[in-house]
Amino acid sequence: MPTRRRFLRTFTAPLVSLPLASTIGECRPQSEKVLRVALMGLGGYAGRVAEAMKDCRRARITGLISGTPAKLQEWSRRNQVPEKNCYSYQSMDAIKNNPDIDAVYIITPNALHKEQTIRMARAGKHVICEKPMALNATEAKAMIDACKNAGVQLLIGYRMHFEAKTLEIIRQRNAGEFGKILFFQGLSGFRIGNPGQWRLNRSLAGGGAMMDIGIYSVNGARYMVGEDPLWVTAQETKTDPGKFKDGVDETITFQLGFPGGAIASCLSTYSMNNLDKFFLNGDRGFAELQPATGYGPIQGRTGKGELTAPHITHQTVQMDEMAAILLDGKKPVVPVDGAEGYKDMVIVDAIYEAVKTGQKIAIRL
Ligand code: NAD
Repeated sequence: MPTRRRFLRTFTAPLVSLPLASTIGECRPQSEKVLRVALMGLGGYAGRVAEAMKDCRRARITGLISGTPAKLQEWSRRNQVPEKNCYSYQSMDAIKNNPDIDAVYIITPNALHKEQTIRMARAGKHVICEKPMALNATEAKAMIDACKNAGVQLLIGYRMHFEAKTLEIIRQRNAGEFGKILFFQGLSGFRIGNPGQWRLNRSLAGGGAMMDIGIYSVNGARYMVGEDPLWVTAQETKTDPGKFKDGVDETITFQLGFPGGAIASCLSTYSMNNLDKFFLNGDRGFAELQPATGYGPIQGRTGKGELTAPHITHQTVQMDEMAAILLDGKKPVVPVDGAEGYKDMVIVDAIYEAVKTGQKIAIRL
């Protein structure tokens, strides 16, 4: 069954350039341009993004990049992408000459993000890059510089920055409803399966659970507290060194200290399920999200009761909002630009340094 929005899009799309179009029901106004996106890396998460984008008002898939010809064929048929807009990793620099594509959404293993971002920036396309944006802060900086030099924008796939219940907590915090913020707890983890996957290969993942799921607590601590941390301490435990090889972290606990006096206590793990919780405490109230960062529906409450904002597929909202950022210069409540991703990489670097040295590490952002 097509959704109402899909139905309207299908049957009104050819009309958008006619004056009549703006008078039809939910049809997008003529002034609203559509962001034309090429997806790079046609794996699990790209499939979720593609499905969600069917309901976008302002973003559409117009290109595909993959190393597997059979996938390109199947995805181009399913998403009505013409063959001339399909590329391999070898041919993708030619995207430069393709006027049908405004932005490339990189959804490949972490270790590939840097080089792919730089290549697409040089091809003159805006880049949306999945989290973690890179393997470390040095790489992240090179990506930001490349996009700046090429005059394109760089956004990171932080879908929670557009999630309604999360934004309601941020609104209440900014309005002072929790008073002085004193404490954040972030629990991020799941039990990872197949030991052969790239997420457990240091050269492709750049680490272990911290790079993949712990980063939600790193990022969440910052948007929930509303400040950037000054220091970190961290401890690692490993129960299965066969599965979690050298440089692939299984479980890390870490603590962050914030300028306003708040502290955060967080857990990142690949060996426990049912860990997706944020808790924020101030001297006048609290807020809780559980699940906090899964695909939803997110559930949350404050001392005043349940949060009731309706669930909308995260990636649909994300891509519509990113279209508004890239095409209209809209400013999101919580940034999603390269500088935001860079901060998380600096903190992740500091967490690994704290684990290695046992020291409290200063964070310089
Ligand atoms: P996946 O393994 O399902 O897909 C990765 C894709 O990259 C595959 O199609 C694979 O063929 C392709 N690829 C290209 N070069 C490769 C290489 N050298 N080695 C291995 N694969 C290669 O992974 P995924 O779950 O889709 O994750 C991709 C990225 O998206 C990661 O950076 C991950 O952190 C991120 N992600 C984000 C979210 C989110 O909620 N924002 C969720 C899942 C994944």
